[in-house]
Amino acid sequence: AAAFSQTFLDMPRPSRPLKVAVIGAGLAGLSCAKYLSDAGHNPVVLEARDVLGGKVAAWQDKDGDWIETGLHIFFGAYPNVNQMFTELGIRDRLQWKSHSMIFAMPGQQTADGFQRFSRFDFPDLLPAPLNGLVAILLNNEMLTFPEKIQFGIGLIPAILFGQKYVEECDSLTVTEWMKKQGVPDRVNDEVFIAMAKALNFIDPDNLSMTVVLTALNRFLQETHGSKMAFLDGPPPTRLCQPMADHMIARGGELRMNQRISSILLNNDKTVRGLKMQDGSMVEADAYVSTMPVDVLKLMLPEEWRSIPYFEKLSGLTGVPVINIHLWFDRKLTTVDHLLFSRSPLLSVYADMSLTCKGYRDDDKSMLELVFAPAKDWIGRSDEDIIDATMGELYRLFPNELARDGSGAKLLKYAVVKTPLSVYEATAGREMYRPVQTTPILNFYLAGCFTKQKYLASMEGATFSGKLAARALADAAIAGTIPLKEKESSAVAA
Ligand code: FAD
Repeated sequence: AAAFSQTFLDMPRPSRPLKVAVIGAGLAGLSCAKYLSDAGHNPVVLEARDVLGGKVAAWQDKDGDWIETGLHIFFGAYPNVNQMFTELGIRDRLQWKSHSMIFAMPGQQTADGFQRFSRFDFPDLLPAPLNGLVAILLNNEMLTFPEKIQFGIGLIPAILFGQKYVEECDSLTVTEWMKKQGVPDRVNDEVFIAMAKALNFIDPDNLSMTVVLTALNRFLQETHGSKMAFLDGPPPTRLCQPMADHMIARGGELRMNQRISSILLNNDKTVRGLKMQDGSMVEADAYVSTMPVDVLKLMLPEEWRSIPYFEKLSGLTGVPVINIHLWFDRKLTTVDHLLFSRSPLLSVYADMSLTCKGYRDDDKSMLELVFAPAKDWIGRSDEDIIDATMGELYRLFPNELARDGSGAKLLKYAVVKTPLSVYEATAGREMYRPVQTTPILNFYLAGCFTKQKYLASMEGATFSGKLAARALADAAIAGTIPLKEKESSAVAA
């Protein structure tokens, strides 16, 4: 990732920098703009909302507490995101946790009546894959030894045939793959329901096995791959703003509250300009859309719809997810880490008052929880969702949240619904993911749904933006982008 970043700085400086309109200030858009500015071009980022970050956006409530679109975890296996923190000089903002994966054991309690957890601890002194194997072998609470061996045997083709096999497994759901490989159902129930919900907010009955194998590959091949970090505060201020500042300092521009309403074309189907919701026009030499795939599909000009590259987008749809914040009047847990809930309604959660320096509170807890799968809940009221969540939490924290009212009290809550979030990675989706270079000479795509090897994640989004920036910078050098006339080359609002 460092070498790839360096290529932007080492490229010959353009004799005439391109004005590039980058649609969206999520991680893909900001990453694309950052690297375009490193290559000597002038990005203009157009963001529809008044907050940076897209799916990592966050804002404050009337008490000054932060509400986040999603509980976000950074992994050791995110080379481009980690490199971004280094390049921006903000590495200290990543708060790395112990190298462990911690699963709740719903319904099970410690001798003194508290919530029990089961841990996979990766020994620091061992390299990959040994650290992962030891972590799996030493945990005997969730899987029996024969179950682990059967799962290990199931993985042999992935080890022998590598990436080709991983890609072929996109035709199978996780559950289908487990059956085909003779892995006992209990392995799915104990581990992979939680994994599938954490990876894509859906169940293993729907999730593509490629997603799980891709994650396992990274986790088992890289010594720190599964190590997790929390950002030390809200992503828009702690990560997105420094990305924006970087490109602004190099001649880029950021325009907030700028929603594009349509893409206008020249006769040759290249982009002539962007029509904004306020009626104004934005023109540039080149355009990068980082809008989520569902928005992009609606925005596609009629003339592009029959082009196979764009037609394929119909195979991708965002998955619903709900992020919940619960503030309690006392501490519920002392675990400073991400927790896999293993409950039917919830995915992962964390006590952000412990895990995140910016949200620290020594007396109270703020649980952030991902509610998934959310298909049947996304249309329900916040009150219904909180009631259901509390029902699950009574099982997770039987002692701390006594139903008779003697335990911790819920002070307030916030529910953030994202009806169409990252693309739903059901079996067979890989063939629909578009590469960043489109058939339209002055139009590029980025976003976590576009083709790259890091799934629909912050790493995938950041890397896709970098790939789009590289493709554009290369095209600028090759002279294949039709330049606007000099006088109209500046992006004009
Ligand atoms: P987006 O963030 O969606 O950015 C698109 C931008 O385009 C937005 O800012 C949007 O406002 C803007 N836009 C849309 N339409 C227009 C328009 N018409 N005009 C102008 N601008 C427009 N990933 C991880 O790696 N780890 C995690 O733990 C994790 N947890 C998650 C939890 C939740 C609840 C969610 C929802 C996501 C999570 N993700 C996680 C995924 C991660 O957030 C996304 O993959 C990533 O942020 C997507 O970035 P993006 O730039 O591709 O898209």
